[in-house]
Amino acid sequence: MAGRNFLFVPGPTNVPERVQRAMVVSMEDHRSSKFPDLTRAVLADLKKIFKTEAGTPVIFPSTGTGGWEAALTNTLSPGDLVLASRFGQFSHLWIDMVTRLGFQVEVVECEWGEGVPVEKYAEILAKDKEHKIKAVLATHNETATGVTSDIAAVRKAMDTAKHPALLMVDSVSGLGCIDFRMDEWGVDACVAGSQKGLMLPAGLGIVCMSPKALEARETSKQPRCFFDMGDMIRSNETGYFPYTPSLPLLYGLREALTMLMEEGLENIFARHAYLANGVRAAITEGWGLKLCAKDPKWYSDTVSAIMVPEGINGAHVIDVAFRRYNLSLGAGLSKVAGKLFRIGHMGDLNELMVLGAIAGSEMAMMDVGIKIEPGSGVAAAQRYWRSNDMIPKRKVARSEVVYASQSTGSNEGAR
Ligand code: PLP
Repeated sequence: MAGRNFLFVPGPTNVPERVQRAMVVSMEDHRSSKFPDLTRAVLADLKKIFKTEAGTPVIFPSTGTGGWEAALTNTLSPGDLVLASRFGQFSHLWIDMVTRLGFQVEVVECEWGEGVPVEKYAEILAKDKEHKIKAVLATHNETATGVTSDIAAVRKAMDTAKHPALLMVDSVSGLGCIDFRMDEWGVDACVAGSQKGLMLPAGLGIVCMSPKALEARETSKQPRCFFDMGDMIRSNETGYFPYTPSLPLLYGLREALTMLMEEGLENIFARHAYLANGVRAAITEGWGLKLCAKDPKWYSDTVSAIMVPEGINGAHVIDVAFRRYNLSLGAGLSKVAGKLFRIGHMGDLNELMVLGAIAGSEMAMMDVGIKIEPGSGVAAAQRYWRSNDMIPKRKVARSEVVYASQSTGSNEGAR
């Protein structure tokens, strides 16, 4: 098919050309005396993305799923109790992993389209006087339903109950796109992956651990080997990895982090909010359709899940969009399969790219019989973008902006 594929699944996202070029490297000795420059550069910049001074980022050759496992197995012991909530396929899969690894879990079932039930968490934690709950799980951005949860409020609930459990957050589809504050929110383990806001191919599972989480590792009796953070951190301290790292991904990560620092985190969050508002204008004002997210407070700035009208199969929209218009949209998963389709709006995107996804979705929806006005979504998004600016919520302090020339720069530096 002529022209390029429009990749609008909520991960993997577009890999910017700069990052693609940075990954085209000859293999080299990962035990050379030069290699630590690369390791140290990416670990230092990752801390800025997690907004942490105290935390320790760990990079596994893995994906977000491996990151979930690493967070759990490095801190808990067999039979430990975990508090979690299920409101979409990814929060569900993390819970499933908890049980498969031999931990116990108290699950708060929520409607799909809602987020972490903070009040319910507060109630449960207040009742747990013996502190049987060892970890509280929260999915920051539920990619399956396009729902963002309030992690600061979860921390507040834990503090109010004076509960010592570890706070573990999945920000696989949030980090690097929407605000995340590891230290300020008292997060103990945050899980991310390379293929979303970090604008890379899949292949890295990244977990940031608080000092308290690393302390829990000392007493954790859970067997682990590949995902042992002790091995990883000891090796990283000398600038190396305990096993062969993926060089292209590490070089790509360094370039992606440089790009994120150049744009500035607060500007990135503002851009995602602005693009997401345009997409939501297309969905609700233009097409007259509903989001899966039940309330504006849950709206995700990285992915919108669009409910298709009764009698229409969302999978049909996705297939027509792909086959006819070379547009890749996200599917409805599990409980919401067929009921919705998703537009991922995260990573390296601007208005015109997103307009392509809106226009293509619009054509595919009309092709399968959804009654919408041609051009209505495109017009609504244009109206929003033409009358609004990208405004960072917080003015970016000069000291937070790191320019390319100040950072470790091109690939050459680390060779
Ligand atoms: N958590 C969330 C919120 C996700 O969106 C995903 C994947 O899309 C995962 C976890 C699993 O990550 P991976 O597919 O990288 O293993």
